[in-house]
Amino acid sequence: MSQIQNHNFANQRALIRVDFNVPVKNGAITDDTRIRAALPTIRKVLADGGSVILMSHWGRPLKDIEKKPNLTLADFSLKPIIAHLSELLHTTVAFADDCIGADAMQQAHDLKPGEVLLLENLRYYKQEEKGDKDFAEKLSKLGDVYVNDAFGTAHRAHASTAVIAQFFPGEKKMFGLLMESEVKAAENVLHNNKKPFTAIIGGAKVSDKILIIENLLEKATDIIIGGGMAYTFFKAEGGDIGSSLCEDDRLDMALALMKKADEKGVSIHLPADSIIADKFSNDANCSSALSNEIPSGWMGLDIGQMAIANFKKIICESKTILWNGPMGVFEMDKFQHGTKAIADAVVEATKNGAYSLVGGGDSVAAVNMFGLADKVSYVSTGGGAMLEYFEGKELPGIAAIAK
Ligand code: AMP
Repeated sequence: MSQIQNHNFANQRALIRVDFNVPVKNGAITDDTRIRAALPTIRKVLADGGSVILMSHWGRPLKDIEKKPNLTLADFSLKPIIAHLSELLHTTVAFADDCIGADAMQQAHDLKPGEVLLLENLRYYKQEEKGDKDFAEKLSKLGDVYVNDAFGTAHRAHASTAVIAQFFPGEKKMFGLLMESEVKAAENVLHNNKKPFTAIIGGAKVSDKILIIENLLEKATDIIIGGGMAYTFFKAEGGDIGSSLCEDDRLDMALALMKKADEKGVSIHLPADSIIADKFSNDANCSSALSNEIPSGWMGLDIGQMAIANFKKIICESKTILWNGPMGVFEMDKFQHGTKAIADAVVEATKNGAYSLVGGGDSVAAVNMFGLADKVSYVSTGGGAMLEYFEGKELPGIAAIAK
């Protein structure tokens, strides 16, 4: 593979896989974070005197149309992105109505240095998600070099994210700048971490986080478990959790995880106390209780004061921090205090020299909501991809270029 910083794109057509799967309402983009995240790579190619062909997916057109026959492919078009992208790049963006075929070929071929072409949604073709080799080869003909900057889909072995790489020799395929920074941040945490290394894992379900916890048992010194998933652990230990979230089919697994952590010398920290509520609502009656003594009819919706103090101390003594998942129902004002306090602690630890990565899941939404995203070392753009990376899985989008 080539390094994008060292590559000169002059007079080359760079075929860049981006993730422009942005939220759109009534034809207007409601959050352009993913588009902005791809700009440094696009600007690098243009500044070198190259041209850019952008390809992305948007939504799940074929699957959704099958379920809702009133939808058409046009409802999944990337066209709403053209004007906004032109504005951000201060240049005209051309559009090909079909991501493969004669017109796309012609438009890509005719690009002059400094010009940008956006291709229509890759997922108009079922071959994209199937990782079809012929489809990938057709796409590959559109560019001289292949750049993958779509970390958000790096965990998919799709035609444009992984299979396509085989049609480019080593020096003509590379990560984009976003992808590179995501991979570097993840490696800092997983492979080049300084100890103590604390992983903060929260969110709703243990079943969603089991693989990441298991993998982190091999890497971390401390694992803080918060959010709804903590109550499965308390119940497994014989505690009373009222009507808190619980996966009864995962009780044995929770015990097994704790036993494994013990054997490996990894400290698992559960929230000693909780903010409890009499219903799942912002206008519920609230109180506090030990997390293993929650009265019936009440549910734990946030971590309590003792838990906050304990978790803060651990976080502030850490040199590496990974945070995945909120400590409570942070979407409701009443139950966001714990998540905010943990975010503040991660910020403080970062100020004192720790490396902190927030990635994969709602903790990213939480740090954005609290306005703290620029006060931690790295906030990942790739939810599912980052999660799979921390589960120890090989990501096809990374492997296809790195190998
Ligand atoms: P995840 O996507 O697994 O990271 O889960 C995030 C979701 O977990 C958020 O929507 C939170 O509201 C929810 N959550 C966190 N703590 C609790 C809790 N104690 N009870 C119920 N839901 C929770």
